[in-house]
Amino acid sequence: MGIDKIQLSMAGPSNRLAPKVGAGAGGSPTEVFRKSFGEPIPKLVDISNSPFLQALFSQQGVLGRIRRKLVLLSGKKGRFVPAKGTVASALSASEETQGEDLVFVGVEFLAENHTKEDLLAGILAHEWGHLVSEFPHGMDPDQLTWEEIFTLRKEEEAAADGYAGKMLYRMNNNPEALIQFFLDPKNQKESTKYHPAPTRVAIIRAGYQGAKQLTHQARRLIHPGAVYHNPITSQLIAVI
Ligand SMILES: [Zn+2]
Repeated sequence: MGIDKIQLSMAGPSNRLAPKVGAGAGGSPTEVFRKSFGEPIPKLVDISNSPFLQALFSQQGVLGRIRRKLVLLSGKKGRFVPAKGTVASALSASEETQGEDLVFVGVEFLAENHTKEDLLAGILAHEWGHLVSEFPHGMDPDQLTWEEIFTLRKEEEAAADGYAGKMLYRMNNNPEALIQFFLDPKNQKESTKYHPAPTRVAIIRAGYQGAKQLTHQARRLIHPGAVYHNPITSQLIAVI
């Protein structure tokens, strides 16, 4: 959940930004060049021999359910793909992804948390926030200093947290699971790279409350006195 958005189209030798030595886990040239706005792309995992993971990623599985809600509410058609060594990270459509918006979902993270649907929804809504933001808006990392990139990433991460809060309300998921995940000391090394946990929590709560208020106002305006129990249904009613 640190640096999540990696633009493959930005990959390429960068004299100004690519550290000369020691970058990336293996320090290979490929990993160095692919850093640009983010970290190396997680390695994909073949799940064809894992009925357990296949079930999670299937239409009927928890990830299929979360994805359907995100697609319905955002109009964005991203795909979840199994990866290792990550919690989750987003990769915008490019030639190298065959035009697909991807969210990598860590299989180790899933093994530990597959029953926590609210947490998965929160993590994945945050990543979806990177896909809808279109960061970094065609900016050329070669033209920016590390400091400038860090500032942009801070804004991007805050926006993705706000988006996650908003979407969790609209998806009918409880935001407390994501909040507790960020507050858990064992996750803080990664999750507080850009903002301290209390800031992230405040942003998530603000996004959630903002969506709630907006939905209630819309309901009052459109259907005075009506009561809705399903946020997704009522969103659609409000839009129609
Ligand atoms: Zn992020």
